Amino acid sequence: MTIPITLADRVEKLGIETAFVVAAQAAAHAAAGNKVYPFHLGDLNLKTPHNIIEAAYRALQDGKTGYTANAGIPHLREALADDFNRTRGTGYTVDNVAVQPGGKPVIAKFLLTLMNPGDEVLYPNPGFPIYESQIEFHGGIAVPYGTVPGDRNFTFDIEGIEASITERTKLLIVNDLHNPTSAECSPEDRRRIAELAAKYDLTVLLDEAYYDIRYDGESASLISEPGMAERSVILYTFSKRFAMTGWRIGAALGPKKIIGVIGKLNVNDESCTNHFVQYAALEALTGHQGEVLNILKVLRERRDLCVDLLNDIEGVFCYRPNATFYLYPEVTAAMTNKGFDNYQDFLAAVLENTGVSMCARAHFGPPLPGETKQYVRLAYSGINLDSIKEGLVKLKNYLES
Ligand code: PLP
Repeated sequence: MTIPITLADRVEKLGIETAFVVAAQAAAHAAAGNKVYPFHLGDLNLKTPHNIIEAAYRALQDGKTGYTANAGIPHLREALADDFNRTRGTGYTVDNVAVQPGGKPVIAKFLLTLMNPGDEVLYPNPGFPIYESQIEFHGGIAVPYGTVPGDRNFTFDIEGIEASITERTKLLIVNDLHNPTSAECSPEDRRRIAELAAKYDLTVLLDEAYYDIRYDGESASLISEPGMAERSVILYTFSKRFAMTGWRIGAALGPKKIIGVIGKLNVNDESCTNHFVQYAALEALTGHQGEVLNILKVLRERRDLCVDLLNDIEGVFCYRPNATFYLYPEVTAAMTNKGFDNYQDFLAAVLENTGVSMCARAHFGPPLPGETKQYVRLAYSGINLDSIKEGLVKLKNYLES
C-alpha cells in the first residue's frame, strides 16, 4: 500500500542549480562512450594546496573532532575579520563573523533573518539560481535585475535596480564579480549602489564568492563604500579561492545583530561547521600562499586560451573578464547560422556533435522583457589546456560547418 504524502506548499517553489542537470546529461553522454569537454560546472579540477590538507590532517590527529562553538572557532573568525579589515577596510571583530558549511548557506540564512513573507528582494538575473529559489521558497517575491554589455565587460543594470524598487522592497542581492557573466562594478557603480541602498533603506547581501579570483589589479568591495558595512552581509567562501569546493566551508560577515541570528540558525541547522575543516580554513587564510597563487596562474592561462579560441569562431563574441572563471559569450549569430532558435536543441546538438558541455542563459533565470540576444556560459575551472583546445576547435568546426 502506498501512503499519499502531502508535501508543504512551499516545496513547489524550490528550484535547483540547473548546471547540475547539464552535468547529468554530460555524464550520460560520457557513459555512452563519448569524450566530453566539461565546461558546465563551476568546480575546480585543481588540488587543494598541500599545506591546507596537512592542517586538516593535523587537526584530526589532534582530536579536533568534537562540536565547536556554533559560530566557529575563534581563531578562524578572528582571521576572517582580520582579512576583511586589511583588504576591505572594515572594522570587524569575531562578533561580526559566523563560520558556515560553505558560502551557499549564507543565502538562506540572510533571507530567513531579514525577509518577511511578501517582502520584495532584488536579485541578479542572469544569476546564481539559488537566489531566486530561496527567496520564493521562504515566501518572498523575487524581483530580477539584469546585466548590460559594456565596452570591455558586462556591468550591472543600476537604472533597472532603481526602477524596480517599490515600497515593499526590503533586500538587495549583489554578486559583484558575477556568475555567470563575470560582470564587475566600476567605482562609480559601487557609489551608486551604496547611494540606492541608503536612499531606500535596503539591507544588502554581497555575494563575494569570486572576490579573490582576479588576474590583474585588485578587487574592490561594496562593503568599503560609506554606510555599507552597517547594512550588508558578506557571503564569503573558501571554495573557489583555495580550490576547496568539497570541503564545505565559508562564512557570513556583517553587523553583530544579524550575525547573532545567523549563529542561532547554525545551532538550529548544522550545530557547527566541521571542526577539523575550520583548522584547514585557518591555514588557508594565514599560511603559505604559493600554491594558491599557482591556482590563479593556471586559471589565467585557461581564460586566455578559451577567449582566443571562442573569438576565433564565426558568430561568437566573448569579453576577456579580469575575474571569476566564467565566460559568457554571445552566440546569437552562431545559433542562427546553424538554424537553432532555442537553447535546449542547441546545447544538445553541440554535445552530440562535439562533446562540448556548457550551460546557456536559460540556466541562470527566466529571460527578462526585451532580451533578444543569446548567450552560453563556459566555466574553465574544471578543464585542462589540452582539452580546452581540443573541445573548442571541435566547437569551431561544428559551428562553422
Ligand atoms: N555564490 C555564487 C555566485 C556561486 O557561483 C557559488 C558557487 O558556485 C556560491 C555562491 C556558493 O559556493 P559554495 O557554497 O561552494 O561556497
